Amino acid sequence: MKQSQYFLKTSKTKPAEDVSINAVFLEQGGYVQKVMAGVYAYLPLGQRVLQKVEKIVREEMNTIGAGEIFLPSLHPKANWETTGRWGTLDILFKVKSQHSYEYALGPTHEELVTPMAQAVIQSYKDLPSAVYQIQTKFRDEARAKSGLLRGREFRMKDLYSFHASSQDLAKYYETVVVPAYLKIFERLGLKAIYTEASGGSFSKFSHEFQVEIESGEDTIYICDKCKMAKNKEVFSEDVECTNCGKTSWRQTMASEVGNIFKLETKFSESFNLQFTDQDGSKKPVIMGCYGIGTSRAMGVIVEKFHDEKGIIWPESVAPFRIHLLSLRGAEKEAEDLYESLLNSGIEVLYDDRDISAGAKFADSDLIGIPYRVIVSPKTIEQESVEIKKRSEQGSKLVKIDEILNSLQ
Ligand code: ATP
Ligand code: MG
Repeated sequence: MKQSQYFLKTSKTKPAEDVSINAVFLEQGGYVQKVMAGVYAYLPLGQRVLQKVEKIVREEMNTIGAGEIFLPSLHPKANWETTGRWGTLDILFKVKSQHSYEYALGPTHEELVTPMAQAVIQSYKDLPSAVYQIQTKFRDEARAKSGLLRGREFRMKDLYSFHASSQDLAKYYETVVVPAYLKIFERLGLKAIYTEASGGSFSKFSHEFQVEIESGEDTIYICDKCKMAKNKEVFSEDVECTNCGKTSWRQTMASEVGNIFKLETKFSESFNLQFTDQDGSKKPVIMGCYGIGTSRAMGVIVEKFHDEKGIIWPESVAPFRIHLLSLRGAEKEAEDLYESLLNSGIEVLYDDRDISAGAKFADSDLIGIPYRVIVSPKTIEQESVEIKKRSEQGSKLVKIDEILNSLQ
């Protein structure tokens, strides 16, 4: 991608209202634009990162055998009345049409996925089964803040599983979902802490995946001995760790990037989702639901990986692998290298603009692509280019004909 033609403009001015690191760097770096509080437009750079995050999530969901679906965002009011949540869910966006109908804008999708499953799940032979989607969610949050961390419109992956028994749900939850989630966060470069939390309106407990960051909204306690963690909502300091029996907790701030629930029969009973068991009896389907905030995860990655100059993307989600910078007098050589990088299938953003070296370096630091490759008259004299990792201070000269090898 040639930067001179790319839909990208960095900015030197900090966004006025939002002081969180992810909002500052993502807006200044030209990744996102704030449309209004809690609502962001993703520009080409931001969309590339979000898609990489979501690709990782999608791959791991496909690996565990869940089928990808895509449900509407506009929901019939009746479905939300069936579960009683039309009147009780405080963050539900309600839309009145000009034809006197009312709708909900989906904040989550149990109200649609459960009745949808009726046509597919009838017998014990249809179980277990699972579906997921990656999609925009709407929540009328009282306070939208901290950039991508809390939006009124945001991205989420939601997985729903269907089982014949609570035991089968528990097994799936622990041996399929939890490992897949840990794998996803590891691939995103995040150390996610598996945290016991309240189950909200569904069940006694749920589990959250929390990432320690100063700007996190949640307080969690981590057992000094066995690293088991609990959310503050369900916690008292004198409580013994249910895992190892100790009472020595470290308190820290964290952001919830995932949350998983055993719904049991909560929604299947509302919608009368039943299956015929082996003995011929009808039983409610047992369900679980499992969320990951993909746009929040993108924000958390920036909160974790940055310095005073800008973002330092982990390679797995960086918008490009290489930021190629031509300095004045080496345009021809830079152009040739750009072509050969493209031909080798390497994702490269090529800063071919006719601006000062200093301005290119500053933009490159802000944008945070993992490898910077500089082609200048000086490096050309030695038939070389300069390669610098965004995460490291030093740089090295590499011969032009060795560059492809050294990047692989
Ligand atoms: P929170 O406690 O932060 O309000 P939640 O528990 O209501 O979140 P869930 O219903 O568990 O959220 O949603 C699944 C995931 O979606 C969360 O773990 C989080 O990563 C993400 N998420 C939830 N609300 C938002 C939001 N307003 N903006 C961005 N991401 C969100
Ligand atoms: Mg949650």
